[in-house]
Amino acid sequence: MRIAVISDVHANLVALEAVLAHAGEVDAFWNIGDCVGYGPQPAECVSRLREAGAAWVAGNHERAATGAISTDEFNPSAAAAALWTRGRLSGEEKAFLDELPETETRGDFTLVHGTLRWPIWEYLDDYDTARAHLALLKTRYSFVGHTHVPALVTERLDAPEGCEMRRLRDGETVDLGSERLVLNPGSVGQPRDGDKRAAYGILDTDAATFTLRRVEYDIAATQRLMVDAGLPEWLIERLEIGR
Ligand code: ZN
Repeated sequence: MRIAVISDVHANLVALEAVLAHAGEVDAFWNIGDCVGYGPQPAECVSRLREAGAAWVAGNHERAATGAISTDEFNPSAAAAALWTRGRLSGEEKAFLDELPETETRGDFTLVHGTLRWPIWEYLDDYDTARAHLALLKTRYSFVGHTHVPALVTERLDAPEGCEMRRLRDGETVDLGSERLVLNPGSVGQPRDGDKRAAYGILDTDAATFTLRRVEYDIAATQRLMVDAGLPEWLIERLEIGR
């Protein structure tokens, strides 16, 4: 099976369409959360991924978009965008988002937006968090999102930290062996690793590999829609610097 693994689309339909075209024929889509929030086309992104039959776990932005959680913990731009997003989704779409689980298991893989300790909120970006996540992981591999930075964690019980962590670059292929791994495909719609191109990954279960990919999209087109929607300026600017 060839599976496109995407995360943090953030209502950026232009980026999502570029990723879907770039991925080509796949057998499945796995969406690691935050399909909405920040960007200008939340309803369109939700429909596109429902149409694709994506496996889908909830992120903090799905929960904020439906009102299931408050935006008190969000920074001011994110809160403004979340409130704007609420007004753009139908009751049926919000009900769909509210039904999304916080974790999903697909074969050897567990999908969760943040970490297994705190599924929609925690950033898996240091050793302590990685160890806590691995301690709760019941499958060999897992996919997380939320940080918007493509990354790989390899469990190494003999290492002082208990694991190794590093970023993943465009085109890099990870072999899935006997070690337990955490993979982060980065963000489709709002990359934050200094590379403004959309990020996603291809999981090939026959070859037992995961390949990180980056794809250019028309950033200016998304920015124009955000200006028209009156979304916060920083959210518009950050797309072109990838931060
Ligand atoms: Zn996000």
